[in-house]
Amino acid sequence: MEYEAVIGLEVHAQLKTATKTFCGCSTVFALQPNINVCPVCLGMPGVLPVLNRKIVLYACMLSMAVGGSISRRSGFARKNYFYPDLPKGYQISQYDLPINKNGIIRIPSDGKTRDIRLNRIHIEEDAGKLMHNHDGTSFVDFNRSGIPLLEIVSEPDMATPDEAVAYLKKLRTILLYLGICDGNMEEGSLRCDANVSVRPRGTDGLGVKTELKNMNSFRFIHKALEYEIQRQIDVLGDGGTIVQETRLWDEAEGVTKSMRSKEEAHDYRYFPEPDLLTLEVDDALLAEARSSVPELPDARTGRFVGSYGLPPYDAEVLTASRDLADYFEAAVNAFNKPKQISNWIMSEMLRFIKDIDTGVKPFRVTPAQTAKLLGLVENGTISGKIAKTVYENMVETGKDPEVLIKDLGLEQISDDTALRQIIQSVMGNNSKEVEQYRAGKEKVFGFFVGQVMKATGGKANPGLVNDLLKKMLKEGNV
Ligand code: ADP
Ligand code: ZN
Ligand code: MG
Repeated sequence: MEYEAVIGLEVHAQLKTATKTFCGCSTVFALQPNINVCPVCLGMPGVLPVLNRKIVLYACMLSMAVGGSISRRSGFARKNYFYPDLPKGYQISQYDLPINKNGIIRIPSDGKTRDIRLNRIHIEEDAGKLMHNHDGTSFVDFNRSGIPLLEIVSEPDMATPDEAVAYLKKLRTILLYLGICDGNMEEGSLRCDANVSVRPRGTDGLGVKTELKNMNSFRFIHKALEYEIQRQIDVLGDGGTIVQETRLWDEAEGVTKSMRSKEEAHDYRYFPEPDLLTLEVDDALLAEARSSVPELPDARTGRFVGSYGLPPYDAEVLTASRDLADYFEAAVNAFNKPKQISNWIMSEMLRFIKDIDTGVKPFRVTPAQTAKLLGLVENGTISGKIAKTVYENMVETGKDPEVLIKDLGLEQISDDTALRQIIQSVMGNNSKEVEQYRAGKEKVFGFFVGQVMKATGGKANPGLVNDLLKKMLKEGNV
């Protein structure tokens, strides 16, 4: 039988607030354990939580970005379970009334787009962190306890690992555009649990799912899903049944491993949090959220195609990060040749930038300098090839292109007399090829262009070299 996969993702996004969800402790990442803590986030008896308004603002911003409905009234519940990293014995989370329902994330798939439905977005607090030592002891760090999270739960709308990764990438880009999460998967500020099942191709029902954890990169998520889909197909193919369970991705072995099955699963005994009032989103907060949402990736991609005349591919690449899109627009402001700037960014600049989300701001070459460099190519001061050399130096030193061109003596040779002399000597040194050319072997023309470029270190004005060579090769005065 042929099977198809069904995937639904639960993503936790750590919010970039200055303080924690229900107390004033700092959220700044600290190497030293247990320094960003207080009685509230340590779960001491008698303390009262006070909700951080910023979190509600951020939740509303994300809601506006994905559409769906914002709950004007929602609430918090206690999700009870025991674990050493959870000092209160419960996590405060939204339960039956999440802040958002029914949003949508549009993803690229097979050259088209698909809308992935969101079930809900809710606010919750993070737990602490356990550190296990080799000698069998464990330590607990509560710096993370109470850090705000948004949980974004998709419907089971994805059919392949590629779609799951496209969804995550899109969600991450939206969070980064909004500036509400730093999106760092390795450090855990964006975490993903993947639910996956398989079913006979073309059918509608849902198969028994497993939940995959412990994948902290797009690549691991892709690999874990590929493995798990095949594992489930193999089990069913052998006449077995899928057990609903949580499985951990083991990167070293490249397999998923059973962690706990449904029988041991938690019963969280949710009940309304008695220490917090109903969460009301008022008009002022909605207005603030609305004015804080920037132009989002899809809209910006469309505008780059529409108003700059860029190919969709270019627009996609440039808008994949807000910083990169800003960079492009700043450069176009200074030099109004969008396609030339786009080409330069894609083929030259991106070679030097490993991570477009964090690498563009600290990049040494400013948009204005890039614009200047391309202007110098346009007006014939340097060739496109020399521009690459100049650019490498700009990246290293942060200096202006004019300064470097002077310092390195890279100005284009457009002086007729000087070029004639060089061509003359090249012809003198290659009289055999000159004769061949005159006998009708036009292919050697390229050879001469190459020789002149070599003799000038690539600095000769290519158009002028062409004109002069044509004339001088015919003249016969070698
Ligand atoms: P649970 O009750 O186990 O928490 P939910 O219905 O709340 O399950 O769904 C949790 C996540 O699992 C959602 O992202 C949802 O889209 C996904 N999901 C639910 N059922 C399936 C299934 N049969 N196959 C794949 N994903 C599923
Ligand atoms: Zn605290
Ligand atoms: Mg559930």
